[in-house]
Amino acid sequence: MLNIDLRKIYNFYPVEPAPDAANLPTGGDIYYECLDCTTVINSVPHIKSACPCGNLTGGGGNLTVKHPDRVKVVKGKLK
Ligand SMILES: [Zn+2]
Repeated sequence: MLNIDLRKIYNFYPVEPAPDAANLPTGGDIYYECLDCTTVINSVPHIKSACPCGNLTGGGGNLTVKHPDRVKVVKGKLK
């Protein structure tokens, strides 16, 4: 497991209006911030990724969100 603090590499901006939790967007520049542990993970993670609290887990291009109402959708731009 690789745990990189993406905030060191990217600036994150909230997606407005906030997307419906039942229909979260995905994309290479779309990231989810876990509201329970504040970890940011890409919505289509190519490397194995997970947040410490277990809400977000993924890898191989797929992310599983256990509690979609506990994520904030953000866009990442390289610093
Ligand atoms: Zn979490």
